[in-house]
Amino acid sequence: MKHETNNKSSCILITIAAVKNKYINVHTHQTIENSISESIQNVSGDFDNIKEHGFFSVGLHPWHINALTAKSCFAELALVSQKTNVLAIGECGLDKLCNTNYELQKNWFVKQIEWANHIKKPLIIHCVRAHDEILQLLKSANNKSPVVFHGFNKKLTLASKIIDHGYYLSFGKQLLWGNYSDIFKAIPIERIVFETDDAHVTIDEIYKSAAHIKNITLDILCQKVLNNTICVFGKNFTNLNE
Ligand SMILES: [Zn+2]
Repeated sequence: MKHETNNKSSCILITIAAVKNKYINVHTHQTIENSISESIQNVSGDFDNIKEHGFFSVGLHPWHINALTAKSCFAELALVSQKTNVLAIGECGLDKLCNTNYELQKNWFVKQIEWANHIKKPLIIHCVRAHDEILQLLKSANNKSPVVFHGFNKKLTLASKIIDHGYYLSFGKQLLWGNYSDIFKAIPIERIVFETDDAHVTIDEIYKSAAHIKNITLDILCQKVLNNTICVFGKNFTNLNE
C-alpha cells in the first residue's frame, strides 16, 4: 500500500518509556478516568460538556444536523474547537441511513473539513455507506489534516483505499467478534488506532484482542499505537504520566 499524503507516514517512531503501556482511546462518548488509559471524549452539540481537564473532540454529527440550528451550532463549535484540549473535529461525516437531508449533511461536513484545516486539527469521521463520497469531499476540499475513520468494520479493499489516501482507521468492539480477525490482521499497524465509541467495552480489552490477533506483545502494540496517535493528534500525548 502506498502512503502518499499529509506527511503522516513520515512521522518518526517516538518511543516514550513512561507511556508505553497506556491505552489510548481516540473516540468515546463517555467520561473515562483511570490510570491505565487516556481518552478523547466526543462531544456533539452540548459543548458546555467540555471541561478544562481531559481531551475532547467536537463535531456536528450527521444524525443531529438541523437546518435551523446548524449555523449557530457551528459557530459554537468553531469557538470551543480552539481550546488546546480539544484535539479534533468530529465525529462528522455522512450517513446514508439516517434521516438528515443528504445535501445538508454534505454542506456541514465540508464546512467542518475546512475548519479543521483552518485550525490545523485532525478529523474524526463518521461514515455509513458513503466512503467514496467522503474521500471525494476531502479531496475537493484540499484536506491536509490527518483523518481517522472511526468504528471501521468494512472489507480490506476499502481499508486499503482509505490508507492509500494517507488516512487512519479506528477499531473498537468489532475486534472482540472473532469474525473480523482476518481483515484486521492484514491492516498495517502504522494506520491503526483504537476506540470504545458508545459500546459497553473497555479499551484494554480492545488492545488485548488486537495484540492477540496481530500476534505481537501488548507493549509493542501500545508503543506503535501511541506513535500513530501522536502522528494524528499531536504531541499532547507525549506528556502523559509526567
Ligand atoms: Zn461515536
